[in-house]
Amino acid sequence: MSSRADPPDSPDDLWPIDAAIVGAGPAGSSLAIRLARAGARIALIDAGRFPRDKLCGEYLSPEGALALEGLGLADAIARSGARPIRAARLTTPRGRRLEAEVVGPDGRAGLGLSRSALDAILLGEARRLGVIVFEGTRVSGPILEGDRVVGVAGRGVGGSPFSLRARVVVAADGRHSSLARRTGSTLPRSVPGLRPRLFGLKRHLVVRDPACDEPPGTVGLHLLPGGYVGSCRVEGSRTNLCGLLPERLSREHRGDLDALADAAFLSNPTLAALWHAAEPAGPWKTVAGVRIEASSPLLPGIFYAGDARGTIDPLGGQGLTMALLGSELLAPFVLQSIAQGAADLTVVREAIRAWHSRFDRRIALCRAFHHALIRPSLIDAASMLGRWGDALLSLGFASTRDRARLPS
Ligand SMILES: Cc1cc2nc3c(=O)[nH]c(=O)nc-3n(C[C@H](O)[C@H](O)[C@H](O)COP(=O)(O)OP(=O)(O)OC[C@H]3O[C@@H](n4cnc5c(N)ncnc54)[C@H](O)[C@@H]3O)c2cc1C
Repeated sequence: MSSRADPPDSPDDLWPIDAAIVGAGPAGSSLAIRLARAGARIALIDAGRFPRDKLCGEYLSPEGALALEGLGLADAIARSGARPIRAARLTTPRGRRLEAEVVGPDGRAGLGLSRSALDAILLGEARRLGVIVFEGTRVSGPILEGDRVVGVAGRGVGGSPFSLRARVVVAADGRHSSLARRTGSTLPRSVPGLRPRLFGLKRHLVVRDPACDEPPGTVGLHLLPGGYVGSCRVEGSRTNLCGLLPERLSREHRGDLDALADAAFLSNPTLAALWHAAEPAGPWKTVAGVRIEASSPLLPGIFYAGDARGTIDPLGGQGLTMALLGSELLAPFVLQSIAQGAADLTVVREAIRAWHSRFDRRIALCRAFHHALIRPSLIDAASMLGRWGDALLSLGFASTRDRARLPS
């Protein structure tokens, strides 16, 4: 827990605070950076201690890389050892494959970078700008005055309770946000029953045989019945393995993820070769109930950011980008509310409308992309089309990008 000047030990009695942001992932930290640069006094609270590992495919799209550059982080990212990613390959249980170039229209590459490094870079910049950061501090719920959110309460380091009042509260506490559950409503954005319940799993590996590793500069999507496992090289000679699989597989293997991997990864020869040539470089991480949903505040005083606002199918590699771009979109609304002394529902609703108009198309396309790509038979058929199949995949990735943003 620290800040530029004499950090307090607890969020108690920090008033006046302009905004209390709960969650120091990419959404929360990048928003804190933007607000601090505009002169606001910000408290950023996270239950974890940084650097910390996080379940994620750790692929950042070219658009996301551009957003980091816009935050002034190009040098820090260059020093981090992030791997440039310029291509995606899709492999099937029959050993067929499609390959696509996934650079931005300006030729910009995406990045393979661990979440422990990426999130620590963002948080470090927030701190440098004077954001008051509380790590190891879990928010349990909002402080309400009537129906208005006027702060947050929880437990800090050592379990001591705290309460923090702020002009504006932002929930950036990720997928399954507890603040969103307590202050708003959440709606699924995928048709229930259209796909099995999915869980996410992730592990860092060191792949001993380079011939079996993901080729440099490539992000892999290896299809399995009902799901897929992605692989992406990150800094420090590690390879990220991260997938979305039917929850029944976890039940069948009683949660033993090594046994699950040994059995399930066999059905894709490319993935099986990678898995057998690899040694673990960290523990498994899992998340259950991966759904596409959007949450909206029903009370004044609070905004939602990042996954707490809405999730997107991970297969398109857009979640981090949406967290970064979503904060850029949200910052003016939060600043307007700070200037007015509180966040009224009118401003909150304007922010929600802006989010929908910016991201709805992308979310729908990523959903369609997910449903098309996780059908190995479809990919097998497309791979027979040779370079036309590859071109279709390139087109699919390109269509999920924000065309207005990147220079062509
Ligand atoms: C299987 C899978 C693979 C993915 N792969 C990719 C990928 O390769 N590329 C990509 O772009 N996106 C990917 N995503 C999506 C991406 O991980 C998310 O979109 C991104 O992490 C959202 O950032 P965020 O800041 O909103 O939330 P998070 O990164 O989840 O951060 C939320 C923060 O809030 C903190 N927090 C939570 N509750 C509390 C509390 N009560 N009190 C205090 N702090 C709290 C947490 O500790 C955490 O640090 C993937 C998602 C899944 C499920």
